[in-house]
Amino acid sequence: MDCIFCKIVAGEIPADILYQDEGVVAFRDINPLAPIHLQIIPGKHIPSLAHLSEAESSLIGDMVNTANQLAKKEGISESGYRLVINCGKQGGQFVPHLHMHLLGGRQLSNALG
Ligand code: 5GP
Ligand code: ZN
Repeated sequence: MDCIFCKIVAGEIPADILYQDEGVVAFRDINPLAPIHLQIIPGKHIPSLAHLSEAESSLIGDMVNTANQLAKKEGISESGYRLVINCGKQGGQFVPHLHMHLLGGRQLSNALG
């Protein structure tokens, strides 16, 4: 499959992988927008949040748990961080494999749109 995040999951292209289990993979963003910028993704190819079935929705909880654990590991649990899921073109999603951004390590702006 021609999906860059599937290739990272499969180890076909390199990434700084911080966590991987049967369901979830986390790695550093290649173009960080903050001192800590991670991607938390399902190992399975799901194109976007809009394609997530109800049966798969517990994956989001697993992704949030992974994000919380990594925030602790990265030392930003107390200072704060932001989790973002962009969905679709107008939602600002460029990579068509569901992913959650974890951003932190500096004061983030209040602008959401
Ligand atoms: P989106 O705009 O789709 O929500 O965010 C996609 C994110 O994936 C961007 O922050 C971008 O820097 C990151 N990204 C795109 N290609 C790669 C890659 O090959 N490796 C890594 N580590 N991150 C990537
Ligand atoms: Zn994929």
